[in-house]
Amino acid sequence: MKLREPGICGVDVATGQLIGATNRYVKTLDDLAGLYEDEAAFRDLQRERGDALVYEVTDYRQSVDAGDLIFGVTRMRPGKVGREYFLTRGHIHANADRPEIYYGESGRGVMLLESPEGEVRTVHMSPRTICYVPSFWIHRSVNIGADDLVMTFAYPADAGQDYAIIEETGGMRSRIVDDGSGGWTLVDNASYRGRSAARIERVFRGVV
Ligand code: ZN
Repeated sequence: MKLREPGICGVDVATGQLIGATNRYVKTLDDLAGLYEDEAAFRDLQRERGDALVYEVTDYRQSVDAGDLIFGVTRMRPGKVGREYFLTRGHIHANADRPEIYYGESGRGVMLLESPEGEVRTVHMSPRTICYVPSFWIHRSVNIGADDLVMTFAYPADAGQDYAIIEETGGMRSRIVDDGSGGWTLVDNASYRGRSAARIERVFRGVV
């Protein structure tokens, strides 16, 4: 049997990058158009900052085979669109019965989770905490702090990501906004439409 070779990577907390990564992608403001509640504030921010980087992911993957593992580091810039904190696009795993973990390296964040039926959970992330994202939960991270939010993550290599599940419902059910005194609070997303029973069943069959 031909074995894979061991690997080693470093976490550069200051730059929010995985040293020795095999893969990198970034999301800029333009990539996140349509995700925020306040479209006028979003356009203002685009005018002010141009197509600025919002988050960056560097990861290490030997394969996307079942049983293998992908891990990496995500760095999200601090900021708000109107009252709403910067967020990642969010996804459910395309093989939805795959979990994930996130480990806080620096900064303060919230993992926002939504079940297929529309239940919402939030997990507060700070350095040296580990968030377990169970199978079947849609998840997105939100930077609620004044500094970069840096997290290390790991998930089964064949998990895959599906973004359409969020687009179909007009976004996730809840938004994370400034509570007016430096903290955060959860508010309803006015554009949200729930999923049909057929759609929910499709998710629970495992392949989105
Ligand atoms: Zn994920």
